[in-house]
Amino acid sequence: MDNMQLFSAPGNLDVDGALKLLETVGLPMESGSVIAVKVDFTKPCPPCLPVICDALREKGCLAFLADTAPCYGDALKSLWFAPANGYDRAGAPCVLADGVKGTDYELIPAKGVKLLRSAKFGRAILDADAILSVTELMVDESGYYGVIYDLGFGCASRAGKTEVQTSGKPVVDQSKCIGCKQCTTVCEHGGARMEENGKATIFPPKCSGCSRCMRICPTGAIHPNFDVTDASVQSKIAEYAKALCDMRPHAHLMMAAGTIYACADPVQLDKVCAEALGIPSSLTVGIEHLISLREG
Ligand code: SF4
Ligand code: SF4
Repeated sequence: MDNMQLFSAPGNLDVDGALKLLETVGLPMESGSVIAVKVDFTKPCPPCLPVICDALREKGCLAFLADTAPCYGDALKSLWFAPANGYDRAGAPCVLADGVKGTDYELIPAKGVKLLRSAKFGRAILDADAILSVTELMVDESGYYGVIYDLGFGCASRAGKTEVQTSGKPVVDQSKCIGCKQCTTVCEHGGARMEENGKATIFPPKCSGCSRCMRICPTGAIHPNFDVTDASVQSKIAEYAKALCDMRPHAHLMMAAGTIYACADPVQLDKVCAEALGIPSSLTVGIEHLISLREG
């Protein structure tokens, strides 16, 4: 397997071992370069993370620990979890990559994919010179949450997370609509329309998904359309991951079954782990989607 590295017992990794692991998987570590270490502040700090941060510091890199705002509620929630989960002792500052309101993102092109035209990532992650994801694999009946998920969903801004989970076009809950027509006025595409019953509706063929109408509606009647298949969500997350990897040098560590798996290629890393654990194909649609894109 290309550049796949294994290291048993994450807690036993020392600085020399971490440096060797990171060099082998090709993480650029020039002195002074800024490395975004993507972690999940809502989960316990991986035991190897302080050593990874020490190793980056030994090379003269400026590392920071990055996570993004959750989809809903207080955007700062992720940051509150960080000290409680031990990230304040990892040896690098904790940063909410899409800002304190989850609105600080950069729109980047998504090339060579089928479902997206662009992707929205936390700006601080794209400000970095390279990305190192450190992921604790999680699998349950709802999904396989590996490296592709951590990159494609975990690095996406709040708007990006909403985009991958929805059809991209809103819908109107007419029971809340008061017929004020603010949505039809603000819409530049003819996507928001009034029906004969005096209530608004969204006409999908005209809607560009800009979400202006959602923001202006005084009653909250317009909301994202979550009526999408799991396969579609997984594939869009995978395309987000590809867009990020196309933009920045990257390397990945994943903790699974007592072993650190390290690789420069998130697809290979996820595929090897999914196969080793016998994950059903319904949960690995995103991995297969990226493989099919590569094969053209
Ligand atoms: S802005 Fe909201 S309340 Fe007003 S017409 Fe549109 S959907 Fe109805
Ligand atoms: S999302 Fe944008 S394009 Fe679509 S209906 Fe609302 S304002 Fe119009």
